[in-house]
Amino acid sequence: MPDVEKKSVQHFIDGEFVDSADGATFESISPIDNEAVADVALGGAEDVDRAVRAARRAFEEGPWPRMSAAERGAILYRLADLLEANRDEVANWETLDTGKPIMASSTRDIQGTTERFRFFADYAKQSLDHGDHFDNLETNQSTIVVKEPVGVVGAIAPWNLPLPMMGWKLGPALAFGNTVVAKPSEDSPITTSLLAEMFAEAGLPDGVVNVVNGFGPASAGGAIVDHPGVDAITFTGSGTAGRAIMAAAAPTLKKVALELGGKSANIFFADADLSKAVPGSGMAIFGNSGQMCIACSRMFVQRPIYDQVVEMTAAVAEKLPIGDPRDPATVMGPVINTEAVERIQRYIEFSTEDGARLVAGGYKLDGEFAAGNFIKPTVFADATNDMRSCRDEIFGPVQHVIPFDTETEALKMANDCDYGLGGAVWTTDLGKANRVSRSMRTGFVWVNGYARHDDRAPFGGYKQSGIGREGGKYSEEFFTEQKGIEFTY
Ligand code: NAD
Repeated sequence: MPDVEKKSVQHFIDGEFVDSADGATFESISPIDNEAVADVALGGAEDVDRAVRAARRAFEEGPWPRMSAAERGAILYRLADLLEANRDEVANWETLDTGKPIMASSTRDIQGTTERFRFFADYAKQSLDHGDHFDNLETNQSTIVVKEPVGVVGAIAPWNLPLPMMGWKLGPALAFGNTVVAKPSEDSPITTSLLAEMFAEAGLPDGVVNVVNGFGPASAGGAIVDHPGVDAITFTGSGTAGRAIMAAAAPTLKKVALELGGKSANIFFADADLSKAVPGSGMAIFGNSGQMCIACSRMFVQRPIYDQVVEMTAAVAEKLPIGDPRDPATVMGPVINTEAVERIQRYIEFSTEDGARLVAGGYKLDGEFAAGNFIKPTVFADATNDMRSCRDEIFGPVQHVIPFDTETEALKMANDCDYGLGGAVWTTDLGKANRVSRSMRTGFVWVNGYARHDDRAPFGGYKQSGIGREGGKYSEEFFTEQKGIEFTY
């Protein structure tokens, strides 16, 4: 990797950066050229135990849960300010570690994190003062409902949006007074460690947030889920890991929130404004190299506009600026690792075998990009909803276009899916938009747009896309316990 000194990433436990108890490390590899960019402490059960003990001490004896929401909020605001002040350093490392374009790391990802910290700081100030209150005038009793933190939260994050996903966990967990043991993905550990460097300066007491690096089961992730000192797990990642976490959390009956994968439907009606719909849908599948839980990877197009939309979508894919993510002009970088390349190539082969028609891309870039994990944006037309590539989450820049005739047929196919996370409807008929979006069995639907999300609104999955919701009062429900206290007069 030119011009960069390999970074050393340690755990952050009880306010200090430390190595693993057994000194073990692993390398974080850049998808730009598959060279190592960091040596990372490899945590196991002993390191997690130290982190959980620190978090529990901070919860039971420290000031954090006993501070007012306003005091905690001021610290979250300072953390957001510090992250913004260090934007360039953080964004550069994120781009090296994950391959995401610098334009995204330095804008959307930083903003997506700082907004969560500030939003939940403000939200908790308003909300913790407002509990329910029930009077029973016959018995002369009144019940008040108070909200308290859950305790020690294990926060396990994926690599595709390392900081924003941590923001969705740390923001509400901290605002409502919990303490945390966080684990970033083994594929993207660097920026969470950079964030940890800012904790003390922001004013977070030692032990309130601890970061342990490592892998999933039989490593730091598994140790967090198994630990009896952890009260709740907030997890974002794959369904495979989600299922394992739910089972592993059962013996200690931890609260579990699971934000999992998707196979979202993108429905184009013949009356859609294609000048907005096609470019919008392009980014809904090729943004972040297709590595988004809400990637709209099944595109249903009504027959009268089908040929035109296929042609326009192929043109968007062909023209998308793909290349070195450190270049500000790059819109699409590499996919995360060589396993992802193999998986995506396997699904491209499946689509051809299953009879879809390749109209754009379909290959890994060669030449100057040969050492990295660059996949040309790919579009298949004439796909059917039962093809393997239309059932499974590919998690890469591969679109499948499927024709339909009637609204009923489109809805049937959209809902014939194991997942239910995102979805989009493009039409100028608002009555139809209302009808169709309400009938889609999925957690969030965008009408004539994609991917914006109001922090107050729920985000989460139906079916195998997860359990629980994030956003405003929905996050509050998970990160607080509600206690009733009855007064008899
Ligand atoms: P992953 O499941 O492989 O790993 C996610 C995290 O979980 C990593 O930190 C990993 O080390 C850890 N982990 C894995 N198995 C574990 C186990 N058994 N116990 C404890 N920890 C474990 O997922 P990934 O490849 O990092 O991320 C991609 C997936 O995340 C995709 O399926 C994507 O759709 C999903 N995702 C969902 C959302 C959402 O909000 N619903 C957002 C982003 C990504």
